[in-house]
Amino acid sequence: MTPEEMLGRIKWFGNASFLIDASKAIYIDPYKIPDGAKDADIILITHDHFDHCSPADVKKIHSFKTVMIGPGSCRQKFFGQYKLIKPMDTLDVKGVKIRGVFAYNVNKSFHQRSENNLGYLITVDGVTIYHAGDTDMIPEMKNLKPDIAMLPVGGEYTMTASEAIEAVREIKTEIAIPMHYGSVAGNEYDAKHFEDNAPCEVKVFK
Ligand code: ZN
Repeated sequence: MTPEEMLGRIKWFGNASFLIDASKAIYIDPYKIPDGAKDADIILITHDHFDHCSPADVKKIHSFKTVMIGPGSCRQKFFGQYKLIKPMDTLDVKGVKIRGVFAYNVNKSFHQRSENNLGYLITVDGVTIYHAGDTDMIPEMKNLKPDIAMLPVGGEYTMTASEAIEAVREIKTEIAIPMHYGSVAGNEYDAKHFEDNAPCEVKVFK
């Protein structure tokens, strides 16, 4: 699949909540999932905050085939298959390659590096997608070179749009999707600022 084709398979539910509807249905930080959403093959959780680790939303998409992947801090909230992951770990689940990436704050204190919160590099159908999690711009982002990067732009708990624009240069992504705005922090103007100034193709989801 080309990165452009993959873009057409991605759904955003607001905040950091996405479905990658590829050969496997991969949800990341499911939150505000509509009723009737398709069952998940894989669910990735970045960290233990209510707008990322939401058992009520996981319940809507969880089935007998679902494998959950996430940090130890969220483990006790879920039943069924749950694979633990830390930054730098790699997993192969149902033919999908998953690598944990650090995610933390550098100019605020909501997310500490020592907590082992996650971003994810996900390779499915030949396309690599980076979901940055709740993070500021950090050295571990440098040269990840994904095809598509999902980057927070809302500020307050994460990077601002201006910081995310800088992060694009470090990450070296071809395509970026702004996230983590419009609900708990930030608004559509942050997404617009990012879209107008990021040095890559930008896809703003509605
Ligand atoms: Zn958080």
